[in-house]
Amino acid sequence: MNRPLLPFAKPDIDETTIAAVSDVLRSGWITTGKHAARFEQTLSEMMGGRQVRVMTSATAALEIALAVAGIGPGHEVIVPALSFVASANVVLRVGARPVFVDVDLATRNIDLDQIDAAVTPRTKAIMPVHFAGLPVDLDRLYELAERHGLRVVEDAAHAIGSRWRDTLIGALGDLVCFSFHPNKTMTTIEGGALVLSSADEAAACELHRFHGLKRDAEGESEVYLAGGKSNLSDVAAVIGLGQLARLDGFVERRRHLAHRYLDVLADWKGGVLPPRGDDGHSWHIFTVLLPFDRLGMTRGEFIRAMRAQGVGVGVHYSAIPSFEFYRRLGYDARAYPQALRIGRETVSLPLFPSMADGDVDRVCGVLRQVVGRR
Ligand SMILES: *Cc1c(COP(=O)(O)O)cnc(C)c1O
Repeated sequence: MNRPLLPFAKPDIDETTIAAVSDVLRSGWITTGKHAARFEQTLSEMMGGRQVRVMTSATAALEIALAVAGIGPGHEVIVPALSFVASANVVLRVGARPVFVDVDLATRNIDLDQIDAAVTPRTKAIMPVHFAGLPVDLDRLYELAERHGLRVVEDAAHAIGSRWRDTLIGALGDLVCFSFHPNKTMTTIEGGALVLSSADEAAACELHRFHGLKRDAEGESEVYLAGGKSNLSDVAAVIGLGQLARLDGFVERRRHLAHRYLDVLADWKGGVLPPRGDDGHSWHIFTVLLPFDRLGMTRGEFIRAMRAQGVGVGVHYSAIPSFEFYRRLGYDARAYPQALRIGRETVSLPLFPSMADGDVDRVCGVLRQVVGRR
């Protein structure tokens, strides 16, 4: 029997949002305009009135955040060795050097105990990732940043809707970047947001976002820097507004499903599960570590076997220093043993709000069957 594939992620766009998209498409104004402004305003209200600017991706938001913070050639930025590669690429793109720090095996978040040793006189910022939506310890992070005089750029691509001690990620701290890619907890198809600390930095962000260009009241333009082009369209913004209205429900459903995985897999000795002590976790992904060497199978074979049973599996992520390009730059992934292990053993099981409870049970059954056959 062939079941339809259960994907590892699936966006959930409701009919109200689809109708709102149609209205914008028919309106005669489809690029950045009043809906993008309303999306920024709504995000800002969520984030306690902080400055928020939306753009085409989290990658753009991270790069602009670094530029706004004045980070460039001769500077170093501390980045977790386990993340999506954009976390390190953006540091190189502004001309600075990523300095990797290993992650913690249980949380998959940057190991804050190893930050002190990574700081040099050239270090300008720490760029932690709230992995899978589990917040980094922000008390300790900002204490470290303050002690060393560093900026913080939170890569919160996984963490829209996550909370640190009851406060939404983005509502406190320094520069915070969100992603609205379709696989993330909420989507604008492609999109991102940057939360900033001051009106001056928000103005600088606007320049980097749109050609370095600013119009005065008379409509005359002036250019202040060689900005890029990453403004968000109104079509994308109305999708974002529709998703924001449902964000709490998405997170609640994700948490329920993640806890069901943890319950069903509780007695399971086959690998490493994420921690369940997770107040504030938004569960963007549910990752499991499997000892493929011991199982005598490759991850590719595992993914194919799961797919053959109708279960989609993702990989988040390989350790960044293990990629060919980073090896050529002289990085050695063996210096980050936990990131290296997670990078080799991690798989992401299906998790999205419209999944049924029974889907979790089915995924776990197929998982036991595929792994147990070995
Ligand atoms: C998805 C992701 C990004 C990039 O997000 P885009 O919106 O696709 O640019 C950056 N960092 C992490 C950790 C991510 O997971």
